[in-house]
Amino acid sequence: MADKVNTLPFFYGNITREEAEDYLRQTGMTNGLYLLRQSRNYLGGFALSVSHSGRCYHYTIEREPNETFAIAGGKSHRTPVDVIDYHSQEMDGLVCLLKKPCNRPKNMQPKVGRFEDLKEKLIREYVKQTWNLQGAALEQAIISQRPQLEKLIATTAHEKMPWFHGTITREGSEPRLQNGSRTNGRFLIRQRDQNGSYALCLLHEGQVMHYRIDRDSAGKLSIPDGKKFDTLWQLVEHYSYKPDGLLRVLTEPCQRPDGDIAIGRPPLPRDHPALGVLQNAADGILSKFIPGRKKRPGSRPSVTDLNPYETRVPNNQAASKEAMPMDTEVYESPYADPDELRSSTVDRNQLFLEDGELGSGNFGTVMKGIYKMRKTEKPVAVKVLKNDDNNPSVREEMLREANVMQQLDNPYIVRMIGICEAENLMLVMELAELGPLNKFLQKNKQTTVKNITELVHQVCMGMKYLEEHNFVHRDLAARNVLLVTQHYAKISDFGLSKAVAEEQNYYKAKGHGKWPVKWYAPECINYFKFSSKSDVWSFGVLMWEAYSFGQKPYKGMKGNDVMQMIESGQRMDSPANCPPEMYDLMRTCWTYKADERPAFTVVEPRLREYYYDTAQ
Ligand code: ATP
Repeated sequence: MADKVNTLPFFYGNITREEAEDYLRQTGMTNGLYLLRQSRNYLGGFALSVSHSGRCYHYTIEREPNETFAIAGGKSHRTPVDVIDYHSQEMDGLVCLLKKPCNRPKNMQPKVGRFEDLKEKLIREYVKQTWNLQGAALEQAIISQRPQLEKLIATTAHEKMPWFHGTITREGSEPRLQNGSRTNGRFLIRQRDQNGSYALCLLHEGQVMHYRIDRDSAGKLSIPDGKKFDTLWQLVEHYSYKPDGLLRVLTEPCQRPDGDIAIGRPPLPRDHPALGVLQNAADGILSKFIPGRKKRPGSRPSVTDLNPYETRVPNNQAASKEAMPMDTEVYESPYADPDELRSSTVDRNQLFLEDGELGSGNFGTVMKGIYKMRKTEKPVAVKVLKNDDNNPSVREEMLREANVMQQLDNPYIVRMIGICEAENLMLVMELAELGPLNKFLQKNKQTTVKNITELVHQVCMGMKYLEEHNFVHRDLAARNVLLVTQHYAKISDFGLSKAVAEEQNYYKAKGHGKWPVKWYAPECINYFKFSSKSDVWSFGVLMWEAYSFGQKPYKGMKGNDVMQMIESGQRMDSPANCPPEMYDLMRTCWTYKADERPAFTVVEPRLREYYYDTAQ
């Protein structure tokens, strides 16, 4: 959304109310002249500034919890542009109809807020240090979890600000402000209790003023009767440019003594990787925009760094409670640690199988187990080949599957840990305990569309990786996507997968096999031709399964009828309540001609854009 809004000629980005009024004035202040800007107090919200009868009026467009936009108390719309379109027809509470956009002056780009500027660096630094990731693993983590990471950073960034002094008392705060420069407007924020209430302490003519900052039931922060904000840093930014009820504006942040910070929640263990995460950023990056902030030699990391497991402020709860893929044991390759020697064979003595099956197939059963590696123990899924199998081709199939899996290493693909030749032939894999996506959704109908989009996007990231590495999956379906958690999906079942030559880029099957016809593109069935483009077709069917909560595609139809239906140009209807953007994408995946069908490199960014829009 933000990206699309950015291209609107009448969107000004992070400008103040006064700047908006200046632009309206410069453009003539005609009745109904309007511009759109980013909200400086609500995350993901906007503000609409309108001129009428020589005055300016400002309306907040809030992003509502169900991803719609509305002027407070007004009608909900899908986008801020829809809000504007609506109010160009209906006043509905506005001072006048919106008549004419006030476009940005030539060569002016929407203004980027100081925090927006920092955000990228903060996110990167946070992911790098919290999960100790680098390279592709780091990039994939940021892409797949950006909305959650942005929320986490936005709502906790104050903890890294030098003006945030943690849970010090009123008495404790005063000498901190009074010692040193004694500049009017010197300020700090302290935490008053653990219910999200703070105090803004401000130096005025040598005296310290204490303003309460309370949190309302919706999680918004405000000084009594003051403007409401989603985050403390927005509040500080606001009162740094205008007093708005305070005795004076905030000028100079009172530096928190290094390492001396307490926040009302338990500190992390000393060796927690999150320690020190953003202190470096605070020392390095933040110093660039907070006057007077300097890196002190030998400064220690604080013990209050972000911990994704903890419950935080109310408007961040969703982001902080859910484990992210990077929190699990199967995000990085088991061999990412150089001390774990990579080997495609698993020592039977180090493999411990548990009772009970995870699943079964033609080949035998899938068991849960533990594999003791050099440094760690991994929970694993073990595909155990039936011993009494007098069909050698099943063994060959399993070895072929292992051979493909061994060449793949991506967070959104079930990795093979190794092959074990013992009482049976066993394929040891990463464990994805919540099982197949279709079954999960059948049982969990309350799963949100946002959650489904998150999972489908992860599958698409895994498929983009396969496409880039010239592998075709050939059995992509919701039953072959396994869940590690409700927010983490991995592609599995490489039994039919093939490596394809880069120049030819398709696999030609020798004949018709036992095929999942309902997932197959026309060229697979008509010409036995399999490529990443035919995987894209299957991905469209997988999307349909996901948004219909695990229903069977082409229900009740025989394979032949499905083929006829496709040949006649018909496609499945949209699942009930499926977002139109996602149905549109499925239809694109079902483009008849493979050449005209988009590749995963095209599908993934489209899906990503929609996912970010809805999840922000
Ligand atoms: P076939 O090879 O005959 O087509 P299949 O495709 O059903 O068999 P799999 O999908 O590989 O075989 O495995 C069967 C079931 O075992 C899965 O549906 C799933 O429930 C479980 N399973 C497989 N791999 C894992 C895993 N890595 N983690 C957790 N469960 C798994």
